[in-house]
Amino acid sequence: MRLTEIQGKIAAACAQAGRTPSGVTLVAVTKGRTAQEILPLLEAGHLDFAESRVQDALEKWPDLKKRFPAARLHFIGRVQTNKAEEIASLFDSVHTLDSARAAEALKTAMQKTSRALPCFVQVNTGEEPQKGGVAPRDLQVVLRDIRAAGIVPQGLMCLPPAEDIPALHFALLAKLAKEEGLQNLSMGMSADYETALRLGATHVRIGSALFSAT
Ligand SMILES: *Cc1c(COP(=O)(O)O)cnc(C)c1O
Repeated sequence: MRLTEIQGKIAAACAQAGRTPSGVTLVAVTKGRTAQEILPLLEAGHLDFAESRVQDALEKWPDLKKRFPAARLHFIGRVQTNKAEEIASLFDSVHTLDSARAAEALKTAMQKTSRALPCFVQVNTGEEPQKGGVAPRDLQVVLRDIRAAGIVPQGLMCLPPAEDIPALHFALLAKLAKEEGLQNLSMGMSADYETALRLGATHVRIGSALFSAT
């Protein structure tokens, strides 16, 4: 596990951009990882983790959270309304809200479980049909509907198309967040988090780079 190395790179990218690393949350993406692989991060004091599948998360995280109660679990998968209650119970934040319908289900689930999860709205900056997220041109309306459902969005999230230059998508997300008065930007993964930090990312979601051997 390469936590220290990545923290160092985040600090360096922040310094270059004139930002303080305390404004950045490194979210360790543990999808597909076993509890054994995750434990060294928890033991090193790391607190923010993410999973994209509710079922996989349910197999690992109730036990891990019992052992490390300060750990926070971020949801980065598609929000299915029939999973809203499990999401509200197990997770501590949602990065991928993309419809009023999902917001309504999540709001109901949060009330039922007496939990309040900060939410990001996912923007499909590449307008890819197979991907979740709100098309940029629909964002204003969807944000209004999400707020009407009783959820106050904390920021925006994107997952750029693999074949595109990520900086263009990060810049677009930052511009949209500014226009909408939203503070947080969940953007940047293993291959492009330093670029994302230059463009204002507050949450970088890193999986493979944290766990790779070399
Ligand atoms: C898997 C995943 C990541 C992490 O990707 P890496 O390239 O392994 O760092 C980040 N965000 C989302 C939404 C993911 O599904």
